[in-house]
Amino acid sequence: MVLSGLRRTLVAGFDVLLPPRCPVCEAVTADNGSLCPECWTRMPFISAPWCARLGTPLSHDLGEGALSARAIAEPPLFDRARAATLYQGPARDLVLALKFGGRRDVAGVMGRLMAGNGREILTPETLLVPVPLHRFRLWQRRFNQAALLARAVGAASGVPVVLDALERRRRTRQQVGLTARERHANVRGAFAVPDAARPRLLGRPVVLVDDVLTTGSTLSACTRVLRQAGASRVDVLTFAIADPVTNEL
Ligand SMILES: [Zn+2]
Repeated sequence: MVLSGLRRTLVAGFDVLLPPRCPVCEAVTADNGSLCPECWTRMPFISAPWCARLGTPLSHDLGEGALSARAIAEPPLFDRARAATLYQGPARDLVLALKFGGRRDVAGVMGRLMAGNGREILTPETLLVPVPLHRFRLWQRRFNQAALLARAVGAASGVPVVLDALERRRRTRQQVGLTARERHANVRGAFAVPDAARPRLLGRPVVLVDDVLTTGSTLSACTRVLRQAGASRVDVLTFAIADPVTNEL
């Protein structure tokens, strides 16, 4: 799935000469950043009916505002979450290709899918705010995948993006492999709204953008500081949603 270093260099430098490839299976495709038809068919898209709070699929249509068992047992701090896919199969591969496989070109298609399932939470007053990376990790990875996705959602929906509404004040461990309790402790106090961003947020609905929603501890920590800064509501839009226990859904 991940291109070799040499080929990635070639793709970056000579993308006119090399055919575009599917970010999931590397089959030759028609355009850069698009999936091959087979991976598209296998993509675990989320479609209605879904839980009004968490955006997870519901097996039966229980009418508007229906909640999943998980949303009732552990209501999240944010108002509503929406996601384009489940975090499995080609959707998981696509997230990994974006983050670690040098495939920033897939952000466009991911953002369009997110804007589709996020229709209800993307209003003309909304501000899109990406979950920030700590500057050390930003330096390591050279880009913030959440910011790329927020830009792509913004381009697809016309909703403005505020890149500096949140800062990560301290470095946190990767959340993967931690229990829910450990995840909450790991991100407590990690985020802040810089003073310069406060006037823009006051009274505005915010949609937080990230690649994957798992336990929601990172997004809840961000929600807390955005509310304190005066955001009128905080919703969440991710590309994929994962089960908090198995990390796949
Ligand atoms: Zn493919």
